[in-house]
This record gives sequence, C-alpha cells and structure tokens, in this order.
Amino acid sequence: MRTLLRWEGRFTPADKAASDYVLLPFEVPPGIARLEVRYAFEGQGRPDAPSVIDLGLFDPRGTAFLEGEGFRGWSGSARAEAILTPRAATPGYIPGPIFPGRWHVILGLYRIAPEGCPVTVVVQGAEEEGPLPHPPPPPPAPFSPRPGPAWFRGDLQSHSHHSDAPGSLEDLVAAARRRGLDFLAVTEHNTVSHFPYLAAWSGPDLLLIPGEEVTTYYGHMNAWGLPRWLDFRCRTAEALRAVIAAAHAMGALVSINHPKTDGPPWEYPLALPVDAVEAWQGPWPLRNHESLAFWERLLRAGRRVVAVGGSDKHQDPPGEEMPFYQVGHPTTWVYAEALTVQGILDALRAGRVVITADVEGPWLTLTAERDDTTWGVGDAVPPGGPVRVRCRVEGGEGLHLRCLSRRGELAFVPVDRSPFEWTAVLDLGEHGYVRAELRGVRHFPEERPEDLPMVVMTNPIWGAPAP
Ligand SMILES: [Zn+2]
Repeated sequence: MRTLLRWEGRFTPADKAASDYVLLPFEVPPGIARLEVRYAFEGQGRPDAPSVIDLGLFDPRGTAFLEGEGFRGWSGSARAEAILTPRAATPGYIPGPIFPGRWHVILGLYRIAPEGCPVTVVVQGAEEEGPLPHPPPPPPAPFSPRPGPAWFRGDLQSHSHHSDAPGSLEDLVAAARRRGLDFLAVTEHNTVSHFPYLAAWSGPDLLLIPGEEVTTYYGHMNAWGLPRWLDFRCRTAEALRAVIAAAHAMGALVSINHPKTDGPPWEYPLALPVDAVEAWQGPWPLRNHESLAFWERLLRAGRRVVAVGGSDKHQDPPGEEMPFYQVGHPTTWVYAEALTVQGILDALRAGRVVITADVEGPWLTLTAERDDTTWGVGDAVPPGGPVRVRCRVEGGEGLHLRCLSRRGELAFVPVDRSPFEWTAVLDLGEHGYVRAELRGVRHFPEERPEDLPMVVMTNPIWGAPAP
C-alpha cells in the first residue's frame, strides 16, 4: 500500500459560505489496481454531531459540473471508507479501471459547527486488486415486459446500502417482491452504483426503475429513468434548473421529495419545472398534510404537477423489519401501457396516478363524463359544457370521501356501503380541476376532514387542455 494523499485541515462556516463542496486532488501512478479512501471528522458517526461532512470521489475523466464524467461514487456521511477495484467497489462507488492521473476526493460541507471542524483524509493505492470489497455487479439479464394497459402498483422512493440504509439492495428487492409490488424505483442518494444490479434483478414480476435522489443541502429531488449519473452539486435555483434540464434531456422525470418539516423541506423556488411532487412520503401521519398542502398550492397556482407517493424506505438491517413502515407504504398506482420503465414514466408524466396507504385496501375511481365520453385521472376535459363527476369507492365502508377542486372542498361524505358512489355536475372550466380523497375513520366529531389520515388520493382530472 502506498499513501497517495494525506490531508489534514479544518473547515469553518466561512468555508461553507464560500462553497458546499471542496475538491482535494491526488495523483495515481500507473499500475494501481486498488484504491482505499478513508476520512474522519469531529463527531463522525454521531447522529447529533454538530458538523457533518460527506465523501465522494472523481477519477481523471473530470469533475466539471453536469459533465462529471469522472464520477466514481458518493457515500454522504454514511461510511468512513470507500474501496475501489476494477471488478468491485464499496456500495455507493463504481468499480472499473483505476486510471492513472489526477483524481479528486470531494468533500461535501453539509453542516459545519461555529467553532469549525477538523478533517483528515487518507488515500492509499496498491498494485494488487486484493480481496473484493463487495460482490461484483452481475451481468444484465434479458428483460421481458409484462403487457398492459393496466394499473400497476409500486413504490417510487427507496434506499439500500448503496447509500445510507443499513440493509442490502438484495433484501430491499426481495421485500418488494414479497409485498407484491409491480415496480420499485431505487433512488440512492447522489449515486448510481446500484444501476447494474437493478438491470440484472428486474423481471416481469417486478420492474426495477433506476433512480437517483438528487440530495442537495437545500432540498431533495428524485430522478427516475436515468441512464447514468446526474449531478447533484447545487445550491442555487439556476444550478438546479440546469440539473433538471439535464435529467429531462436524458429522458428522466424529476420530483420534489418530501416538501415538509424534517423532510428535509424544499428551499428552492416553486417555479422550477419539476414533473411531480412527492405529496405522500412514508406513513401518512409523518407530516404528510404539509406535503399535500405544498402540492395543492402548486395546483391552485395553475401548475399541472403530478402527485406521487414514495415510502422512502431505507432497507432495515437483516432480520429486522418495521411492520408499519415497509416498501409500499404508501403505494403509487400508475395506469401504464406496459410494465416497462418507459411505460411507467409515460403514465407518470400523464398523471394517471393514484396513491394508496398500502398495497391492498379500498379503491377510489374518479371519472368525468359528458355525452358518450369518459375521462379519468390525468386527463384534460376540453371546453364544451359541464361534466358529471363520479367518485366510486370499493371496500371503503366507515371511511370518508372527499372531493376537491381549485375552489376548495366540494364534498365530504361518509361512505356507508360498498360500492359507494357520489356524483355532481360541474363546469371544470370554472373549477380548474377535480380530485378525490378517501380519508380515515373519524374518532372525534371535532376532527376536521383534513386531519383524518389519508387512505387513497387521486390525481386531478383537469378542466382544459394544458397551455
Ligand atoms: Zn430525501
């Protein structure tokens, strides 16, 4: 082992004010087959540490913003070391050639204590590959899609040990199969080291969608359907706008994640051209009324942004399972032409999306009818007179149906049988949109509709074609 870098320094709040990210260069001589990066900072590993510093790595192919061809991995503050060899790497890092030339350790200054934070970084190299730090990615398997069109149920946000979860990607995928999900987006923080495993383990029973949670210090954003890594190094609206454009150019969709207290919240402007909002993250009582209100503010401002759910499940360690917080809590249903990445992305983009608290349970159908035409969630009803809006609930006895438009609540009625129907004649040109919710049991008469837990929520039917 040769020491290629030994760096000791101290970061202050002034350093963070100047930049959230610091690059430390080091030279790799020819003939190196194993790199080991280790770092330490004051309070590392303590949840209450006043400073938090993240770790990542770039190879000589480059560090430029949005190009970042040299991206070789990111572990946030979840790991104190990363090992790379040609065939395998620590989860979060990308195996491959250890190119000779100038590499960079990247440190992310997430939080810096007022008195500053001492940091040590050591990089060592060896000519032998040595013991593999992780099983190498399996080769991609041929994929046969399940045909549609159909409602497919899945989960749009999850994490494994490729970022900060204690459990493995293998266990996360097995849990999704046990839960009977049709699709699972694995959205690791700022890295794509899980992509080859998804390509190998995806099947017609469970479609695995390559995702990345763009995890900035001012808000988190999912990107689904990425072919490769997407840069996350943003602190301004302009930088994030460029990242969103890059994601769209790659055919991916982006979603504002968990815009609520402790989400962490979204500090960027609302005007950014995101496709979706995670209006429901994890079990409903985790402040999801705030995320729903965030989405509804966008709707009332005239934005056609799709509401999605994501469990944000961080896979449990082996042998431990949180029964009330698993993948599929909540479940996002999309009406897609086929169970393929493109099929799911197209359906998400079209807003053909319903979110339910669990993988099984009551179902809520929202339609609008005029003459012989019926529209469903995500559709836009063209001008031409009022429509009959129909909410149909199956298996929801004891719950409450709520119907809303841009003007506010249109109905809040107890569901006393199954199937149950509520209809009204509305001019969607005046109402802008209509959407429906199924809310939980009312235990106290003073509980307001919006305080009851969500059981099912639909996306809107729109009042006119998108401009
Ligand atoms: Zn997040």
